Amino acid sequence: MAKLQAIRGMNDILPDQTPNWQYLEKCFQEVVHRYGYREIRFPVLEQTQLFKRSIGEVTDIVEKEMYSFDDRNGDNLSLRPEGTAGCVRAADQHGLLFNQQQRLWYQGPMFRHERPQKGRYRQFQQFGVEAFGMAGPDIDAEIIQLSASLWNDLQLSDYLTLEINNIGAAEDRKRYAAALTAFLFSHADELDDDARNRMHSNPMRVLDSKNPDVQVLLKNAPALLDYVSEDSTEHYSTLKALLEQVGISFIENPRLVRGLDYYNNCVFEWTTDSLGAQGTVCGGGRYDGLVEQLGGKPTVAAGFAMGVERLVLMLDSLGKIPPSTAQVIDVYMLVVGKELTAASQLLAKQLRERFPALRLVAHCGGGKYNNQLKRAYNSGAEVAIVLESEPGEVLETVKIRRLDDSAEFVSVELAKTADKLGEILSIS
Ligand code: ATP
Ligand code: MG
Repeated sequence: MAKLQAIRGMNDILPDQTPNWQYLEKCFQEVVHRYGYREIRFPVLEQTQLFKRSIGEVTDIVEKEMYSFDDRNGDNLSLRPEGTAGCVRAADQHGLLFNQQQRLWYQGPMFRHERPQKGRYRQFQQFGVEAFGMAGPDIDAEIIQLSASLWNDLQLSDYLTLEINNIGAAEDRKRYAAALTAFLFSHADELDDDARNRMHSNPMRVLDSKNPDVQVLLKNAPALLDYVSEDSTEHYSTLKALLEQVGISFIENPRLVRGLDYYNNCVFEWTTDSLGAQGTVCGGGRYDGLVEQLGGKPTVAAGFAMGVERLVLMLDSLGKIPPSTAQVIDVYMLVVGKELTAASQLLAKQLRERFPALRLVAHCGGGKYNNQLKRAYNSGAEVAIVLESEPGEVLETVKIRRLDDSAEFVSVELAKTADKLGEILSIS
């Protein structure tokens, strides 16, 4: 029978790789906690309707990329393609947004049925933050600064560029969409089917058209910038001034729009050219209308999400993962002789209690001394503790042996093992 394989685009992360992920998770959590953000966890499955109403019916994510199915009750559910919708749903459902400010963070797997390639997978991991109830550009500057702090901690600052754009307030976008629709309508016979279909449902998506003929036509289309209100422009200018003040450089990219419909005003992305094609590692912006759109009381908001796989790839390829994060053990305990099982488990228990930070593997499964010693060397441990006795003999002493070329060892009384080990490893 053929062996079963993982689903394409859904990766196993093996023990050699997990320390890199743990390192990144630790750094992210340290940064969000420094900024006073609190963790929220929400399900990977939600009503499909939640994503349709937030991300937008006519977006690539909802039209083509969601894993949706009817469950046994006939409810249409989807695996979450991103975190913001579920975070808003959860925060609102539990009254976290009612006249309150919230600074929240999350991490977890997201699912999109995309074409798998380097940096683009069908199950991928995101870190995100969402800040609710703060209208000013100060919070936008804060979340950008928070991401910049992470790049700093990870020593990635030199490899990442911040791009920002003002896509206007919701009303500005509505007026612009109407003007764009009118323009597209008057050129309907020059559009392709895809653009004609989107002309009414989501005209701004037509701007992303890959068809060169459509792109030529769009050169004469109305520009969003001309529809952006003064308030929105002022918000954006203040954000830029704040970023300059805290020393964060940025590039203004008028083509930056983001693929989710809920964004307004300031949007941003951090990109790198050290990854090839999939160069965006973090994207975010304001989404002031989303809470209300999902049935909550109007609550302004801003947030971002970053792709963990892309960051791991970056750290790996730039050699930025500190070697000490590789998970190694300190002690490998050899147990030569079946009758020593209980003694070895007891000694291991005592040593772990005495030195809570000690990483100790007690050999299981029997076998000859030489084979066990080989495992001890392969484990990367610094020392081996050898428990060995003749049949019928009571264990009185153990050997502590350095697992380096010296192979030095000492014999110690069983009861003094912990003291001696502490001395050898300089731990207490
Ligand atoms: P992309 O430009 O790669 O299509 P996006 O705009 O669709 O990204 P967002 O929805 O903003 O991405 O998600 C935020 C981040 O999550 C991205 O910047 C990226 O780092 C990561 N990401 C998104 N989709 C994937 C995926 N399929 N596989 C791996 N990481 C992803
Ligand atoms: Mg995408």
